[in-house]
Amino acid sequence: MSEPSPLTISGFSTALYATWYFVDELGLLLDCGDGACAGLLQKSRKVRTIAISHADRDHLTGLPQFLQINVREKGLPLVIHPRDCGSFPALRDFLHDFDRFHLEAGEGNIWKPFEPGALHSLGKSKARLEAIRNRHIEAGGDQVRSLSYRVIQEHHRLKPECQGWSSEAIAETRNRLGDAAVMDFDSRSLLIYSADTPIEDSRFWGDTGVLIHEATFLHSEDAVSRGQDLRHSALDQVIPMATNLKLEALILGHFSTRYSHGEIRAAIAEECRRHRPNFPVFAVLPGEVNHDILRGTPIWEA
Ligand SMILES: [Zn+2]
Repeated sequence: MSEPSPLTISGFSTALYATWYFVDELGLLLDCGDGACAGLLQKSRKVRTIAISHADRDHLTGLPQFLQINVREKGLPLVIHPRDCGSFPALRDFLHDFDRFHLEAGEGNIWKPFEPGALHSLGKSKARLEAIRNRHIEAGGDQVRSLSYRVIQEHHRLKPECQGWSSEAIAETRNRLGDAAVMDFDSRSLLIYSADTPIEDSRFWGDTGVLIHEATFLHSEDAVSRGQDLRHSALDQVIPMATNLKLEALILGHFSTRYSHGEIRAAIAEECRRHRPNFPVFAVLPGEVNHDILRGTPIWEA
């Protein structure tokens, strides 16, 4: 089977200010920071699912504008969010009053509280969105206040031993014994979005096509000195971790504005020279909307 074409991913991601990423083929918006609608313009009409990672304001304040323009009669798009954040019901209730006319169509059914392991089908793409628990906000008990997301692509094909059967024979066996009698099923991780998270072991994420990972800090000592090492990741942790994974591409974002673009590029190049990832590494630099990131110029070419 031929390799899937690279995803069309656009985004903006600057720590403290705003983060959002749009995956064209999946109609999926990952987080909805300020400016998501303005960055996507007419493309925002293609969004079917908005998956918010947590209620820090840089990840959700684009929602009022986004929903005002894009909620349609069928109640789309859906807004998936961590189950136990009070901010989402509060925002829903506020928008109900503030934008009543626009939100009536989707009222009540566009907000979807999610817990780790919850799945959502992404339209016709035969892909499913899965919520992953992360440690950005540790709320205690089984409270779910922050999530990462994975997109799983499902494949099914005729079993080798059924190749050459007539379509009637296949249909008859399928009716009698079920799909699994004639089909092989497998799935692969197409995309992982870390959202805001402290560094995890590579086994936590597993292999995937594209990994979008935050790198708020360039050096882990910067994170420690800010007391942010338990909430965010540093570039010098992310590159070695990601190098242990089989990836098609790594996209780094959520950099702090304390670093210049030049410092960020130089630090990525240095880490990559040290660890030699065998996949390209792209960066979403502070203040820039990036369109079709994977067809742009990587900072590290494998
Ligand atoms: Zn953030």
